[in-house]
Amino acid sequence: MAVKRLLILDDDLMVGTTIRFIAEGVGFDCQATDSPQEFFALLEDWCPTHIALDLVMPQMDGVEVMLELSRRSCTAHIIISSGVGSRVLDAARRSAAEHDLNIIGILSKPFKPTTLQTLLNSNDAVRMQSVVPLHTEEHEQPVCEADLLRALEQRELFLMYQPKIDCSTRSPVGFEALVRWQHPERGLVMPSEFIPLAERSGLIDPLTMQVVDTALSWFATHFAAEELHLSVNISARNLRDLGFADHVATLCAELGLSPTKLVCELTETSTMEDPVASLDLLTRLRLKGFMLSIDDFGTGFSSMLQLVRLPFSEIKIDKSFVMTAMRSGESRAVIKSIVELGHSLGLRSSAEGVEDDETLGFLDEIGCQLAQGYRIARPMMADDALAWYRDYVGDPGT
Ligand code: C2E
Ligand code: CA
Ligand code: CA
Repeated sequence: MAVKRLLILDDDLMVGTTIRFIAEGVGFDCQATDSPQEFFALLEDWCPTHIALDLVMPQMDGVEVMLELSRRSCTAHIIISSGVGSRVLDAARRSAAEHDLNIIGILSKPFKPTTLQTLLNSNDAVRMQSVVPLHTEEHEQPVCEADLLRALEQRELFLMYQPKIDCSTRSPVGFEALVRWQHPERGLVMPSEFIPLAERSGLIDPLTMQVVDTALSWFATHFAAEELHLSVNISARNLRDLGFADHVATLCAELGLSPTKLVCELTETSTMEDPVASLDLLTRLRLKGFMLSIDDFGTGFSSMLQLVRLPFSEIKIDKSFVMTAMRSGESRAVIKSIVELGHSLGLRSSAEGVEDDETLGFLDEIGCQLAQGYRIARPMMADDALAWYRDYVGDPGT
């Protein structure tokens, strides 16, 4: 078994000794110090696999230590601890994550020995994934407009579908269509790498139409008779096209689908770029019977008043809160208040980024209606999404 080494930096020697005692009990080699200088010397010479870091110290505070760890590209698993309030600990955790440090947990003093043991024994491989850089091909040139135009003409874009379920009954309620690009040379390209380009270049209109066409045809073929809905992502730029609502309405009519089955997801920030134009076009979409969801809610800084005036039917809580719900009281408080806001405005609330059962249970408890996330299913190819659905509802299909 690989050696696990824990380096402890804490100005309270009693606490340092306690952490050491607990860690040794679960198979760690430990070194503890109260001096930042000695800490950094040990970091170089002893190469710890784990670090326990006190946030508040007289000589150098924990944030400074974290910045220095980041500067040294430290990959050790870090536990931050302190007697300061949980909001400050949460903020410190976020700041560390922003600096690409591998924080495996926060320890609020006084802590129970079992809490520390669980953290030290936690599944390293899974947690390490969160710090693997997303852009492995960072030396490549970004995709260009001509490339994207070809992709649209050659139909290189395709869709994956991610299910949404009802939090209390756990039954499927619909799918969200998520676009991908199968590039002939680059391989799979994710939306974050080409949607901004599509928005800048004006190619977002044909792109969205292709997405809506493909998604609605798939949905109408397999789910026309089911009580399900289909969500698609709409860019605020699409709202400038006055014909957009008409085109989608015609398409639904041709496919025999009720417009109420289509949910258009728009991000909070995008609808605020031009609130008046957004109001006109969103109202048109709603008058035609489509549902509107406000995506990534909680990440923008829009005026609540403007938001509530827009005719949304669903509020989608951003995954940054949902994914951290079980380890952050602050995230739970934000989620709860968004759900309450949704209830009082008559909006359905939906949470994305649900990665475990505990979060699903919490969402149900606070009255959030819908959930989407890796715990339920990852985005899937069309055929796999269909098979998933049949398997989930126990329908052998045809
Ligand atoms: P979004 O609308 O917020 O979509 C949800 C994203 O979260 C998806 O990433 C999905 O794969 C991911 N996700 C879902 N559940 C989980 C989970 O439990 N954990 C984690 N870590 N992630 C989860 P994806 O497919 O990469 O899409 C990224 C963004 O690209 C979307 O964010 C949306 O803003 C945009 N996008 C995707 N398809 C389209 C499209 O057809 N048109 C437009 N305009 N934008 C699109
Ligand atoms: Ca979305
Ligand atoms: Ca979202």
